[in-house]
Amino acid sequence: MTKKLIVGTLIASSIFSCTTTTKQAESSSEEITQKSSDPTVITYPEFSGEEPTKPEQTEFYEPVPPTVQPFSKNGAPSDAIVLFDGSNLDNWISSKDSTTADWIVNKDGSMTVKDKAGDIQTKQNFGSIQLHIEWMSPTEIQGDGQHRGNSGVFLQNLYEIQVLDNNDNDTYTNGQVGTIYKQGTALAKASVPTGQWNTYDIIYHAPEFNAEGGKIKSATVTVLHNGVLIQDHTEIKGTTPYIGWPKNEAHGKGPIRLQDHGDNSRVSYRNIWVRELE
Ligand code: MG
Repeated sequence: MTKKLIVGTLIASSIFSCTTTTKQAESSSEEITQKSSDPTVITYPEFSGEEPTKPEQTEFYEPVPPTVQPFSKNGAPSDAIVLFDGSNLDNWISSKDSTTADWIVNKDGSMTVKDKAGDIQTKQNFGSIQLHIEWMSPTEIQGDGQHRGNSGVFLQNLYEIQVLDNNDNDTYTNGQVGTIYKQGTALAKASVPTGQWNTYDIIYHAPEFNAEGGKIKSATVTVLHNGVLIQDHTEIKGTTPYIGWPKNEAHGKGPIRLQDHGDNSRVSYRNIWVRELE
């Protein structure tokens, strides 16, 4: 009697198990079908169809990219707009009142923040850009935290990439050198010793807004600091105020602005050039 019960249970369980397996197979097959027809899955129509059998079937000759001569304009590419080559501040104005930029132009081809002169900005407005800029913290150490060699590169006049003497000088993580100020952290701290020249190579894509003024695409920024990737296509979540949340009011092209932090942070800049991106 007991034996019959066990056999019966085994058979029933076996039938149930079979049914379950079949159902699992069916649902798995359905999932695969659904996934393959998912419109969000990336496909490449130009690389579909019959498999090519000759190399020339996958080669094309148009369009041809424009030729750019690197290192042609005092180190800048031939199609770059040189914003500062060491000779004068003709491409810059005071951010306070749009008068002549009043920072110090040094004999070595650099410029330095002048006490109380305030920020300076380019006369020209820009959208998406590739920007090369070099900066140096003052050799004479003054202050600490945010008050040591603080400056900044503002993209479109709104979004600050922090410049700071962060060597042996801690501060809040989201205000360190190379941060989008108060938004996240840099991927690395890659400064050279204080008093030596740093490079920033910045790829910036401007945000987009709809007709009603709503942001429909965030700005993004990639930054190489002395050749080290410190921002990797990072989303810029809005403006970068000292106090308050990031804001996202609609705007068009804007100047590149360099910060006078106002606390004797006599940061220097040199070799500034920009390439406009589509
Ligand atoms: Mg700053």
